[in-house]
Amino acid sequence: MADQYAIKDKTVICQSESGSTYIITRAGCSCTGYAYRRICRHYKEAEYRGLIEQAERPRTLLLRSPMIIASRKKAIVDYLTKNKIPFTNKKVDKLESVLNINMTPEEFSQLAKST
Ligand SMILES: [Zn+2]
Repeated sequence: MADQYAIKDKTVICQSESGSTYIITRAGCSCTGYAYRRICRHYKEAEYRGLIEQAERPRTLLLRSPMIIASRKKAIVDYLTKNKIPFTNKKVDKLESVLNINMTPEEFSQLAKST
């Protein structure tokens, strides 16, 4: 079994084939090899796969930011009100979570009425 890599809390976690777990960041790897040589296969592999850069990047998706979600909910409320479709806050939350860019107004209305 080869080394396994995962990203957690802005670090790359390497589960090595020998059963050890190492933590890799831009600053280095927690293995003893890295401590001696300032380089190791875990670090090289994590860097090669772009995992170090990926771990450093903020993971909040813009489309799921509170501001965008609030805007989408307001748009949904306006739409439902204009089209005289009854709604509750819970229904608006549900519709917001499923609304996508490929939906037609008819599909959305139908979904709103059946939710
Ligand atoms: Zn290492």
